[in-house]
Amino acid sequence: MTGDAACRGIRDHDADGSIGLVAAESHPPYARPPLSKGLWAGKDEDSIWRGTEGLGVDLHLGRRVVSLDLDARAATDDQGVSYGYERLLLATGGTPRRLPSSPEGVVYFRTVDDYRLLHERADESLRVAVIGGGFIGSEVAAALATSGCAVTMLFPEAGIGARLFPEELAVFVNDYYRSKGVDVLAGELVGSIEGVDAGFRLETDGGRMLDVDLVVAGLGIVPSTDLAEGAGLAVEDGILVDELGRAGGREDVFAAGDVARFPVAALGGSRRVEHEDHANTHGRHVGANMAGAGTPYVHLPFFYSDLFELGYEAVGDVDSRLETVAEWAEPNRKGVVCYLEVGTPRGFLLWDVWGKVDAARELIAAGEPVDAGSLRALLL
Ligand SMILES: Cc1cc2nc3c(=O)[nH]c(=O)nc-3n(C[C@H](O)[C@H](O)[C@H](O)COP(=O)(O)OP(=O)(O)OC[C@H]3O[C@@H](n4cnc5c(N)ncnc54)[C@H](O)[C@@H]3O)c2cc1C
Repeated sequence: MTGDAACRGIRDHDADGSIGLVAAESHPPYARPPLSKGLWAGKDEDSIWRGTEGLGVDLHLGRRVVSLDLDARAATDDQGVSYGYERLLLATGGTPRRLPSSPEGVVYFRTVDDYRLLHERADESLRVAVIGGGFIGSEVAAALATSGCAVTMLFPEAGIGARLFPEELAVFVNDYYRSKGVDVLAGELVGSIEGVDAGFRLETDGGRMLDVDLVVAGLGIVPSTDLAEGAGLAVEDGILVDELGRAGGREDVFAAGDVARFPVAALGGSRRVEHEDHANTHGRHVGANMAGAGTPYVHLPFFYSDLFELGYEAVGDVDSRLETVAEWAEPNRKGVVCYLEVGTPRGFLLWDVWGKVDAARELIAAGEPVDAGSLRALLL
């Protein structure tokens, strides 16, 4: 997504320059969010493709770049092909975090191929264990349950989305999932998984045994920084970039999207953001800067998720370790949660509240304490 957006940013400023996009997956760039949402609700798979090739971009698919020579301005792929460049963008995203040991066949859900595999098998006869209660686990569990599968979710936290939501809300979401037929095992770590016949047997730390046909894991991602590290670029949980997206203090090397750690003026310090709005906006911005735009990235990205019929948008630091204040139109169904640091707003969770991301951004930028009235205004 970031690579495609960067191509668009380049084209905004340079109609003819040659662009090559080298991608390890065998598919052209596509949107990932529909893989756990829209495609399960009947959206056509054709809708995910970004149409990068229509921008006059040479796509080199199914090739992994394995080394960079920044002085020679060359990248070499796993088939020994070398690509020269004037400007380089690293938009390598992240790879799913894996369990310390898991048998062949566990699906670490990230790609369109993972989606196809699950979608083909998803019906009333399929028993699935979904490991992880974060974004991917919660969305995939909802998608599979909606398709009729018998779904068991397990995760170590007290509730679904517990790293984001205040505890009471996370526990409400557990019950909501149970009401949709999902067996939710909160506070359970996977002890072991073994392949048995055509399926799997899981044992949890709490001693529970589970026999399933399929295991899907959503344990977060690890940023793919190996190329950058190999080339001597600074990496700290992400490739460090400046406000223009430049890496390593160089004019010709950039990084963007899930893999980049960038300065966030609105919040101070730096962040690495693994969300669609950031992939699209940072990608386009940094692409434009590769073509000479010279514009700092000051956007505060938002994110969203759907959990069956529940849904939200969120912006800023949405972290359940922060102090929160909330205003609910209907408890746990429709409301606004504000995340605070030293009394000032750092982030907002807009729970079934839509079109208020900009207003929330303004409250964060203002840096003033919020009162019940300003939270209520977001609900209107
Ligand atoms: C199922 C799913 C649902 C999501 N839903 C939402 C959502 O609802 N809302 C939201 O805000 N965000 C969502 N996201 C997150 C969003 O999709 C990501 O933030 C976005 O994909 C990041 O884009 P990226 O291009 O930076 O990284 P990636 O998507 O990780 O893409 C990086 C690409 O680089 C390739 N690559 C890596 N290393 C190399 C190499 N050495 N050589 C060649 N190619 C390489 C990878 O194969 C990959 O194709 C979702 C993600 C997933 C997986």
